[in-house]
Amino acid sequence: MAALQRAHLANRAMSHLIPAAIDRPSDDPIFALNAEANRRASTGEEVINATLGALMADDGSLALIGEVQEAIRSIDPARAAAYAPIAGASDFLGAVIRDTFGEGTMADRTVAVATPGGTGAIHHAIANYLEPGQALLTSSYYWSPYRIIAHHIGRQVETFRMYGDDERFDLESLEQSVDQMIEAQGRVLVVLNFPCHNPTGYSLDAGEWRAVAEMLSRAAARAPVTLLLDVAYSHYGLEEGWMENLAGFVEEGTLLVAWTASKAFTQYGARVGALLATVADDDARQRTANALSYSCRGTWSNCNHLGMLAITELLVDPERRVRVDEQRAELRALLDDRVQIFNQHAAEAGLRTPRYEGGFFVAVFTPDARATAAAAKEEGVFVVPLNGAVRVALCSTPSRDVPRLVEVLSRAVRATEAEMEQG
Ligand code: PLP
Repeated sequence: MAALQRAHLANRAMSHLIPAAIDRPSDDPIFALNAEANRRASTGEEVINATLGALMADDGSLALIGEVQEAIRSIDPARAAAYAPIAGASDFLGAVIRDTFGEGTMADRTVAVATPGGTGAIHHAIANYLEPGQALLTSSYYWSPYRIIAHHIGRQVETFRMYGDDERFDLESLEQSVDQMIEAQGRVLVVLNFPCHNPTGYSLDAGEWRAVAEMLSRAAARAPVTLLLDVAYSHYGLEEGWMENLAGFVEEGTLLVAWTASKAFTQYGARVGALLATVADDDARQRTANALSYSCRGTWSNCNHLGMLAITELLVDPERRVRVDEQRAELRALLDDRVQIFNQHAAEAGLRTPRYEGGFFVAVFTPDARATAAAAKEEGVFVVPLNGAVRVALCSTPSRDVPRLVEVLSRAVRATEAEMEQG
């Protein structure tokens, strides 16, 4: 007893956190950059803050869809105050499935659970389709919370090379990595974020989708292959026909879709989302529904009922749906305007970017992203350094600032290249 007490006293100065948690970084680096940009702007400096992933109007306010507020106000407070069912309200789940697949075989083969945003959907996918210690497979540029979510629950991340030398999607690298992972761990969870990939802005075109779907179908005939499609930005990009192409894949593999109201309904804080699972076999589909609902109980129990009820209204009431679509189209036009100005100026300035047709972000390639981001920051332009590129959030950059943003970035990239050449 005395020995135990002495050990306890000796340990008191140390953290009680378990070793895995003891050195966790706290602040998200993007939020830290955003805070620095705001601090400098508050001193009167002309700052362009292209760091944050929310769509802002040109006056700097959060761009909202008014109809969503109307729907939220229309919900009976007594209904909203009650717990939602663990797996999510069935009307909500049905509406989300139809929103994604319409009517037909894909919808009939799909089950879903409510999740707090796409983040929750990604969590459930990783927890249910990988054993502890196994790794998901995603592109070399990827949304960094994939890694945090995976590590937090004892899984890993492996990547394939996203772009070939022609700066197009590197299908060959994806195929090689899928083969290697089948060999190494007997199953694969591929995570793709299209259209409007965060952080690079890329959208697969119809031909690329066809090739990806065919390759994954071949792999799925050999081992359990699951594709998680993170469609967080789907309402802001081109419709490239992923669904038709993936219908064949579903005969062998499992298709998961991380659906979220965050960007589609400009409700980032409502935490309304869903994980959809399309499974051909009836028994396997029922087991999938059970497993996902079990994960809901084992994590957040149930999700924001008010948000779920309001988003259901917006999806099922035909008049509300039309109004939301019209109001969202205005936001999309705002963003598309910035994209067009960016593409024109970037081409003139010779900036290297992947194909970019729309979406919240675009990446600008550079040999040393930290140096480029630091040089741009000196001139009051805030972007996020990645490995090999900087991420530019056009979603939060007013159209009038885009030409200056490109000018500063091209100076910063040139300075970086010159420094690299001097060694
Ligand atoms: N996936 C990507 C690529 C994202 O950029 C985001 C949000 O920034 C999400 C998923 C999920 O966001 P939320 O949890 O708010 O739906």
